[in-house]
Amino acid sequence: MKPVVLSGFMGTGKTTVGVRLAERLGVGFIDTDAAIEQKTGKSIPELWRDEGEAAFRARELTLVEQLLADHAPQVIAFGGGTVTIDRARRLATDRALVVTLTASPEAIVARTPDLAARPNLALGGDPLARARELMAQRAAAYAECHVVVSTDTLDPDAVVQAVLALVGRDPLLVPLGTRSYDIDVCDNAAERLVDAVERLGPTSLVVVTDANVARARGGFIDAALGELNVPKTRVTLPAGEQHKTLGSVSSIWDAALAAGADRETVVIAAGGGVVGDLAGFAAACLLRGVRFIQAPTTLLAMVDASVGGKTGFDHVIGKNLVGAFHQPSAVVADLAHLETLPTREYKAGLAEVVKVALVTDARLLTELENRAAALANGERAVVFDVVRDAIAAKIRVVRDDEHEWGRRALLNLGHTVGHALEVHGGYSRWLHGEAVALGILVELSASAAMGLTPASLVARTQNLLSALGLPTRLSSADLSAAWTYVGADKKRSRDSVRFGVVQSAGDARVETISLARLKQAALQAAL
Ligand code: NAD
Repeated sequence: MKPVVLSGFMGTGKTTVGVRLAERLGVGFIDTDAAIEQKTGKSIPELWRDEGEAAFRARELTLVEQLLADHAPQVIAFGGGTVTIDRARRLATDRALVVTLTASPEAIVARTPDLAARPNLALGGDPLARARELMAQRAAAYAECHVVVSTDTLDPDAVVQAVLALVGRDPLLVPLGTRSYDIDVCDNAAERLVDAVERLGPTSLVVVTDANVARARGGFIDAALGELNVPKTRVTLPAGEQHKTLGSVSSIWDAALAAGADRETVVIAAGGGVVGDLAGFAAACLLRGVRFIQAPTTLLAMVDASVGGKTGFDHVIGKNLVGAFHQPSAVVADLAHLETLPTREYKAGLAEVVKVALVTDARLLTELENRAAALANGERAVVFDVVRDAIAAKIRVVRDDEHEWGRRALLNLGHTVGHALEVHGGYSRWLHGEAVALGILVELSASAAMGLTPASLVARTQNLLSALGLPTRLSSADLSAAWTYVGADKKRSRDSVRFGVVQSAGDARVETISLARLKQAALQAAL
């Protein structure tokens, strides 16, 4: 079990809940304020008065670093402002399950009659105004958590139950301030999607899928959503990349608006990356933006497309040329969907896992090599671990560069050439993941030809992709013909392209390379 951190404003009941929760989990409980008071022999008001806020925050950070150093299972109640310390918040979201308890400013003031013990609330003489001000200042830091639980109406035991449910789920967190969200990876747990919808409390649902997914997974998804007493509109798009068009987006808007969608409507993208990109974009623009849930049904969408908020559609000139960043409000990746996914589609998804490992995570790359046979066979326990690890690796990139001005461009490894191959093949010759696998090899080989990547890593990658059942051969005629479309890539700027250079396994940098130099290096690197 991971440690559980209870965060939130003073007076939200962190200590009361923490003591009961620790008892239920059979682990220790520590309150950071109490620990600091014990260590210094001074009360919090005395420390604020004698040392000031900055020194107090430094003490908090040191304590948090100690508490989270060894991942020991325990319940930790943070002080009200602890998560405003960036490093403390990062440590907590990386190593613990973080729960933010909330309460209205009025409830907080009513629960804290002794203002002398709360120096920060007492500042300015109007505690209600100060509570509102501090809550607004801290909103983004408090939102960066695995779950928010309101304590206005819930009694402490009900709050404990809500936290125990979180511990059972153990979701991954994409920490992006007020746009943060959980990713649930589960296996045959239809109720997780229901839980995710219930946490958002929508007025209505627009469930978007494609014809294949409706046929293969419709029963599973409908049975789950049938539990929810909320109006639902279903949109079934034609399947396939050739339908990743504005026309498909329009049909989602038409259905949603005809059904009376409002700002509290939630769109559910139940499908592969195509449905996810289309439904996400439709949600980004509908009524100037409504929330959406990603319920990926392909491996590729689970490990890549559903994470990070890129949405959009293809233009005749090139792939993904129109779109928006719009983060989902939740992602529920249920491996049960993979049961009906064609093997070729499943294997195509492994290409994106190899990609994220190559650019960010040497340990994951070795794991893929060691478990390649089990992965190629789709052994569920292995797939479960790899899906979680691949998502975690992507999150580490996205959280620091949400809008791809820097490192996130590394995740395009294989895509400059891969997208060109897809267009050249009329979106039917290679699946997206297969084109990416070939693209990775061409781009790595080109880097090696330019002296930027060791040749041994190209050979290692070729062996891994082949062991995973992905294509590793491409004729120079196909590569030359596809090159025409590299010029339409959206990572291009004038006559150069931002390109991921892998220096060694798990270690890559973004470089701007002229298209002419890249072409020359790529064409001389035969596969
Ligand atoms: P896809 O959505 O076309 O799905 C592949 C095929 O599998 C389709 O025919 C679909 O109908 C079918 N299918 C899906 N789930 C199924 C299931 N459980 N059982 C049976 N059939 C099922 O393709 P994909 O590979 O999932 O995604 C590729 C798309 O994702 C591309 O358009 C790519 O640009 C996009 N993408 C986006 C991002 C992002 O960050 N937004 C990242 C990577 C890829």
